[in-house]
Amino acid sequence: MKLIRFSVGTQVHWGILEGANIQAIRLPDLEPTGQVFSSSEVQMLVPAAPSKIICVGKNYAAHAAEMGGEVPVEPGLFLKGANTLTHHGATVAYPAWTENLHFEGELGLVIKTQARKISPEQALSHVLGYTCAIDLTARDKQRADLQWFRAKSADDFLPFGPHLETNLDPSTSRVSTRINGEIRQDSSTSNMIYNVPFVISYVSQFMTLEAGDVIITGTPDGVGALQPNDHIEVTVAGVGTLETRIGDKA
Ligand code: MG
Repeated sequence: MKLIRFSVGTQVHWGILEGANIQAIRLPDLEPTGQVFSSSEVQMLVPAAPSKIICVGKNYAAHAAEMGGEVPVEPGLFLKGANTLTHHGATVAYPAWTENLHFEGELGLVIKTQARKISPEQALSHVLGYTCAIDLTARDKQRADLQWFRAKSADDFLPFGPHLETNLDPSTSRVSTRINGEIRQDSSTSNMIYNVPFVISYVSQFMTLEAGDVIITGTPDGVGALQPNDHIEVTVAGVGTLETRIGDKA
């Protein structure tokens, strides 16, 4: 099932997308409100409104190796600000203050119901759905700054979408990234060091996950530099493709 978040006028809704038809729903039960829309009359939004965005670094051994680091002995977590979220089809300006903007294609997910101190076995029942994410990273500033704050949390540094897929096995999803049509990352979530249930459970031991919170699960190997006007496509098999264009330096 494809879940979308959209607006009609000033009203924001969640809905189930079936072809060009949208059935408005209430979360978390996906209960229909009775309102039906056509996709041509709504404005599609990022399918998440999180209180926090939790990211896993170096969660694929081949990526940890290409970054010149060891495989972490515990999940390497960091946060991105909610200001980073941007929608499918967005153009993201190439920030003037970096010389090394990188793409990282990832599996993302949104939390459905509050999770606190839950087990890995309980974790997937707290997931609303899965989607594609691009963890944009100013690699030069990641190395230069004391923390990854600027490198990871600049405006629009998290294209996310286009919709959430409720029916996905996150343990065996192919994640691939194309830049200007050329394949640059191609792996499977089965190569994750810390799988999705483990990560959700791990985080929930010290931080309450609220409905709407976002987790992005780490990138496979093959990351690289972007240039103005590059076209990025991240595909999670079983979900779809997220497209983003890099704009001029600004
Ligand atoms: Mg990443």
